[in-house]
Formats: sequence, structure tokens, C-alpha cells
Amino acid sequence: MAQTHILGYPRIGANRELKKAQEAYWRGETSQQQLLQEGEEIRRSNWQAQSDAGLDWVTVGDFAWYDQVLNHSLMFGVVGDRFSEGAAENKLDQYFRLARGRAPSGQPVAASAMTKWFDTNYHYLVPEFTDQQAFSLDSEWLLDEVREAQVQGQKVKPVVMGPLTYLWLGRGVDSALALLPSLLPCYTQLFSQLADLGVEWVQLDEPILGLDLPEEWRSAFIGAYKGIGADSGSLNLLLATYFSPLRENLQLAFSLPVDGVHIDCIRASEELNTARDLLGDKQVLSAGVVNGRNIWRADLDKWQRVLKPMAEKLGDRLWISASCSLLHSPVDLDTETSLPVEQKQKLAYARQKLDELVQLQSLLDQEVSTTVTELKSGDKSGSVAQQLRDTWREQGYLERVPVQAERWQLPLLPTTTIGSFPQTDLLRKVRRQYRNSEISEKDYLEHLRAEIAEAIRRQEILGLDVLVHGEAERNDMVEYFGEQLDGFVHTGNGWVQSYGSRCVKPPIIFGDISRPQAITVEWSSYAQSLTKKPVKGMLTGPVTILNWSFPREDIHRSESCLQIARALREEVLDLESAGIGIIQIDEPALREGVPLRESEHADYFSWAVGCFRYTCSEVKAETQIHTHMCYSNFNAIMDAIVSLDADVITIESARSDLRLLSAFADRSDGYPNEIGPGIYDIHSPNVPERGELVDRLKKIAEVVPVERLWVNPDCGLKTRSWAEVGSSLLNMVEAARTVRTEL
Ligand code: GLN
Ligand code: ZN
Repeated sequence: MAQTHILGYPRIGANRELKKAQEAYWRGETSQQQLLQEGEEIRRSNWQAQSDAGLDWVTVGDFAWYDQVLNHSLMFGVVGDRFSEGAAENKLDQYFRLARGRAPSGQPVAASAMTKWFDTNYHYLVPEFTDQQAFSLDSEWLLDEVREAQVQGQKVKPVVMGPLTYLWLGRGVDSALALLPSLLPCYTQLFSQLADLGVEWVQLDEPILGLDLPEEWRSAFIGAYKGIGADSGSLNLLLATYFSPLRENLQLAFSLPVDGVHIDCIRASEELNTARDLLGDKQVLSAGVVNGRNIWRADLDKWQRVLKPMAEKLGDRLWISASCSLLHSPVDLDTETSLPVEQKQKLAYARQKLDELVQLQSLLDQEVSTTVTELKSGDKSGSVAQQLRDTWREQGYLERVPVQAERWQLPLLPTTTIGSFPQTDLLRKVRRQYRNSEISEKDYLEHLRAEIAEAIRRQEILGLDVLVHGEAERNDMVEYFGEQLDGFVHTGNGWVQSYGSRCVKPPIIFGDISRPQAITVEWSSYAQSLTKKPVKGMLTGPVTILNWSFPREDIHRSESCLQIARALREEVLDLESAGIGIIQIDEPALREGVPLRESEHADYFSWAVGCFRYTCSEVKAETQIHTHMCYSNFNAIMDAIVSLDADVITIESARSDLRLLSAFADRSDGYPNEIGPGIYDIHSPNVPERGELVDRLKKIAEVVPVERLWVNPDCGLKTRSWAEVGSSLLNMVEAARTVRTEL
């Protein structure tokens, strides 16, 4: 009979208990003892959920106080010198200093860098290697958790990140691969410790097998696994891959001396049959058929038909699982109290996915009438890119420039902001009161109008050139549009960890998307009525709305994207007719949807860029379209950004201006349209000094022609206080004035 297991379970708790416990501890409100206890309870209930559902294996080692990659850095002794102080007395606080620079004890330090985990919205802490990097094993936390689960009576399968993926994720040395020989002994030692505890299987995660790997990394797999595979003794190794087809690495994965291989049958269903053919006589094939990254119920009948012949042939050497760790799913659908039944019955969160695996296991034990099912391969966009081919503004950028200059009469180096202004405690309170029906809609709207009026007044005093209304009506840039558009469903408790204690609650694209009525026009018009300066309309772009939602599985993502783009185009045109002639369409998540494999980039960009362009394809030449992105490493997607052809892009760069500037310097024509590289970092509470801003602007002006240069912060200001915003923007506007006079 097929066996069931998962690659990992969410650790935030069904009601975000971990978040609450962490934050209370960080604020100094609770003791470390209380935090440790909360963690233990979450682990225990996660394991219990797996065994109650009837899984054959219970996964251990997926819990983390902040991040699983950081767990490994501590396990292997990859801890920068700046974190060593006070570590002996308080290990957990050292962990939090590594993660966030601060802990209740010890001095603040610069935290580890954080970056996105493959193509998910989860962020991991980047291991920092040095040239003299030595590794040493400190596996106590993992062994403790294994014992904890064993005491609970569980049949445990610990999960550990594989050595190549761990090295790949790190930074700080020219070749992390050179560190491999000194890292491997830690694995050998760890395996013998686990074997001593009676562990039979270890899951080794090597998701980089789904990437375009350089040849030396591919061949390093062979040497590394020959060593650790042979040394694993009685322990069985399950090599886990996910997020992507393995393609040229498929054969490699199965040729390694491991006892089983897991493949992601959501992202790589076309590889299932080849995987079966490549399987060694004793090897286990783990098929990840329940989507670990979405919230829809699995089509168990389909998987029964597909897997039945394999189940018959392989018996208990077929394992069934979710495609990837359930870390990327919300926790428990039973906690959703307000979703209508007809919606709820289509959904499965992590806990329900456990049940699905067990149901599938028993379905595989039953007879099926037909076992012929075609597995459709890949994630190819349909006709969207085709349809969008010629939908773009009539005039090219160079023709639009004089028309826009005439209409807007902006000074050189125009100043603006990215959209949001502080979401004050009062504003949050009023929104909460409104949601709880404690205040009337009329009172709520009046309060929002007052916030907008205040934002406009302050911007006029500061002397900004292009104003914004401040986004007081939005708590979240995707949720807000999702709530106004038809086709979205909002969950009450569908939280997914983004990083540390931060969780996001993506809306669900439930059906076809359309715009029943104008969304932002009233707010923007109201703001515009208060000032003679132009007020910039503010929309979230189609690609970002898509990438930050749970997508449908019955149509290709590009089709939903086009539906959103259609709705937004109506909004853009309504704004234009209402006299809002500068409109920003934010696409901070454009990069997030980029496929992991380079060969698929072109397809993605053809529809993603097409959808963006579609939203503003009908506007007049004098209407100025802005877009905004906030990540620094965009060299790889520079061509796509250019082809968005927004009149103006504002983009994060303060934390890495040199990298951004070199991306322009590397292009023969630089960035061809107007650009506002953020000149200060809004993530920090520090107010940038005027002189510093002048210097930065001048440096940027060496690379970007001044007639195409805008002046703005890195991102929206909603997380800052008005005091910080006022002083920072004043310095920014003054800096622009200073540089203007020197030109
Ligand atoms: N307009 C949005 C804001 O200012 C953009 C947010 C973002 O880039 N993530 O808040
Ligand atoms: Zn931003």
C-alpha cells in the first residue's frame, strides 16, 4: 500500500499563535520560557494533526523560530562574528539577533540579509559565508525535536536541507561550492546521530535541482551524495525536490545513491512517468500530487487513475505527498467561520490536505474502471500574449514627451512620492471600528476624506510637485482591489508566513474577474479638488494582483491576469475622464512571478508585460503613466521593465544604488523613459540628511540624464510616522531644489 507523508507543515499555528508569542516575547511582555512552551505546543499539535489524519510518517525539523534556513546556519556554525556576543548565555536571543538584529537581551546588530525563497512569497535569511568558513555541527535542537516527537509516539521522518541547496543559498564567497568538502562531515555526523535515535528515513531537501544549474554544481551532487549516501548506514535518504521540473537534472537525481526521490507533480507532472522508469529497484518514489501552494481541493479521482498502475507496481515504494512543504498553505480551513459553504467545500488548507493524502491512499487501494489519464504537461500560457500583441498606446514615448511636458509643466527633477502616507493608529482604529460596524459608513468615509485632505495639505506645504491622495482607504494594495472587483473571495484566516512573524492573507481568485463600478475615482477626484498641483491616481497592477493572490487552477494564470487588466483599464479610463491625468500602476510583484527556469521567462513576460500595457493602452498621449517597483536586483528583468514602457518608473534603489545604476550603465540607452530611483530608504526610521540626498542625486544624475530624472523615496510611506515623513520629504524636496540650481 502506498505510504503518506508531507514535506513540512506550517509553523505559525492555526490562529497565528507563534506570531503572537514571538512578538510578545520581543516586546518584553513574556518570558523566554513562555515562548519555548508555545513553540512546543505548536509542534506537538502539528505532529498530532499528521498522525490523527493517518499519515504514515510525521515530519519533524520543519519548525523554526524564524526561518528554516537560519536553523541550518546555526546547526552548521555559520554565524558571523558580530552575532557571537552573548550567545553562550542566551542562544535563542542570538538566533533572533541573526534574524532581525535585535532580541530582548544583547546589543542590536545588523541583521542577516533576507531574500525570497525560490519563486514564493516566503523570505529566508541568507547564510553569510567567509573565505575561512569552517563548519561545526550543533544539532541539539533537531535531535530534541525528534525525541519530543518520539515521546509523543510518532514515527518520525526528520527534514534537513541538503548540502548543495544550503550552500547555493548563501553569499559572501566567490565559490560556495568550494566549501562543500568541509560541510559534508557535518551531514555524516548528523546522520549517525539520527540513526542512533532510531530514525529510519531522513528527507533531504534539494530544490535547486529544479534550477538551471551550472555544470560544476550538477557534478558536485554526484560526489557529495556518494559520500553522504554511503555513510548514511541504516538510515534511508529521501531526496526532495520541488517548485520546478527537474528536466536535465531528473536523471541525475535518480542516479544518486539515495533511497528515494520526491518530485513536485503539480509543477512537473509530465516527469512522473519518466521518474517511475528511472526508479531503482529498491528506491521509493514520492509523488507530490496535492498542491502545497494553493488552496483548492485536489482532484483525487484524477490522481487515483494516474497513480493506480504505479501503486500496483510499487506497493509501499510509492509515497504520496503534497507537492512542496505546506509552509506555503494556510493552516486550517476549520478556522474559517464566515466563508459560505459552497465556497468552503472547494477549499483545502494544510490540515485538509493531510486528509486528502489519506483519502487518496485508500482510493489507490480500490479498483478503478479506467486508468488512462493524460497528464497535461507544463504551465504554458494560452492565447493571451497573442491577443495582446498590438494593444498599446498609439504614440511612442518620444512622441508623448512633448505633449506631456506641455500639459504638466513640471520643473526639472520633479518630486513625488510612491503613494501611501502614514497609516496612523487612529486610521487603523477607525477602520477596525468600521469593519466591526461600530461606526457608520458615513463616519468612516468622512474620516478618510479628512485623512486625504490632511495629506494634500502637508504635501503642498512641503512643496512636492506631483501629489498623491495617500491611500488612506486601503489597508493592503491587493486586498483593497480584490474587495472591489468581482471574482475574488477574501478569507478570514487564510494566513501564510511571509517572513519571521509576518504573515500575508492572499485573496482567492474564485472566478472570472470584472469591475462592477469605479474603485478609486472618487478618492482621487476628491484629492484633486483640493489642490492645483496634479494628483497622481494610484492603482495596483494586474500582475501584482495576480501574483499576490491564490490563482485558479482551471484556467491559465495569464487569463486571470488579462481579466484583471481589463477591469483596470476601465478604471484608468474613468480616472482619465475625471481629470486625473497622471496615473501610477504599481507592479512590485512583477519579478515574483518569473519562472525559475530561464527557458520559461519569455512566455511569462510576453503575457505579464502585455497585461500591464493593456491597462493603459487607450489613454491619451498627454496622460502620464507611472509604475513602481521595489526590489533592487532587477538586472535580469531589465528588458521586461523597459518594455512596460511606462512614462515614469519609480524604483527602489537607496539600499543598493550602485547596483541599480550599473544596471543602467550596462545598457546602451540606459533606461529609455523617465525614472525616479528612490533616494532614501523608507524601511528605516532614520531621517536622511539633506547633504546626503544632494550627493546621492548628483551621483544618480551622472548616469541618468537630468531631463528624465525624478526625485522620490524608495517606496510607500505607510509604515512610517508623520514626523519622520515630514522631515524626510522636506529634506528630499530641498535636495532637489539645491541640485536644480546647480545644473
Ligand atoms: N503605492 C503603494 C504604496 O505606496 C506601493 C506599495 C509597494 O510598492 N509595495 O504603498
Ligand atoms: Zn514599493
